[in-house]
Amino acid sequence: MPNSLLDVPFGEWGRVLELPEKETYRVKQIQEWVFARRAKSFDDMTSLPALLRVKLKESFSLRALKTIGHDVSQKDGSSRMTFETGDKKTFSSVILPSRSRETGEERLSLCLSTQIGCAWRCAFCASGKVHFVRNLFSSEIMEQVMCAEDVTGKKVDSLLFMGMGEPLANYHHVLWALRCLRSPLGFGYGARHVTVSTSGLVPQILKLSQESPKVNLAVSLHAADDETRRKIMPKSSWSVQQILKSVWAYQKQMGNVRVTFEYVLLKGLNDSLRTAQRLSNMLRGRNVWINLIEYNPVPGLAFQKASRDAMEKFEGVLTKRGLFVRMRKPQGADIKAGCGQLSY
Ligand code: SF4
Repeated sequence: MPNSLLDVPFGEWGRVLELPEKETYRVKQIQEWVFARRAKSFDDMTSLPALLRVKLKESFSLRALKTIGHDVSQKDGSSRMTFETGDKKTFSSVILPSRSRETGEERLSLCLSTQIGCAWRCAFCASGKVHFVRNLFSSEIMEQVMCAEDVTGKKVDSLLFMGMGEPLANYHHVLWALRCLRSPLGFGYGARHVTVSTSGLVPQILKLSQESPKVNLAVSLHAADDETRRKIMPKSSWSVQQILKSVWAYQKQMGNVRVTFEYVLLKGLNDSLRTAQRLSNMLRGRNVWINLIEYNPVPGLAFQKASRDAMEKFEGVLTKRGLFVRMRKPQGADIKAGCGQLSY
């Protein structure tokens, strides 16, 4: 596969392009073409000398990801893009439209993938059922944003690292993508518009708190005790308490950034009032949101979604104890793009 320029840290662009000292301003020009003007090829960069464009073309790719499918949900307008990589692998990401409460304007969120397949094998998730193929490169993570803009003709407002894969198991590529997405020289997203989700990889959460630009963190907790969590997320070797400790450390390091806990409600497993009380005891008084997720059934898996009544009662316990709770509306289930449904 050709090297993508997007995989090279900005500080190295001058060196890899062998730019003489007096021409290092060319780096800024290339960044403007790539990020501000969203050039699709090096040929588009008409303010660069022809020889530099040839060098760029010979050494790097710019847009390696091909969008080969775009399915739109008839129920809620969410859509699933399917991509083909340079080595002919396929994966998907999901565009989620919503309305701003203040202005009524449409806003787009993009649920990005970070791996093809997922080795974490959470018991309820379609991504964990298929074979793990490989990590996505930083460029393939970022190009999903550009493809979503091409498909919709609009700017993507927020980025959720919640598609296929465990982002923190692809730490190196995710970290550079975060730096580039947040950098004013790159995509320029604000801290509140980027959320990294993890199933709770404790060492990587701590590392991220030291090395990443400020971004929101979402943690898939799905249980209030270790025994239940092992049934739902059997490959996770950290206890609930260890995960929470790392999350509080992340929050402190990132300036009390809000953390979201994802909690998929599964009938008879983690949806009791006692569990809700236990969860609220662990999280009350912290700057957190809890997203309660309606389970999207996956063929071949025995889990069932909690009843509407159980979900509302669970939510009631948490809100009564002063916790901020969102009942996440299921989106994209009819195009297999719902939470936990992404496969390749
Ligand atoms: S829930 Fe996330 S970490 Fe778990 S198998 Fe699915 S994609 Fe992987």
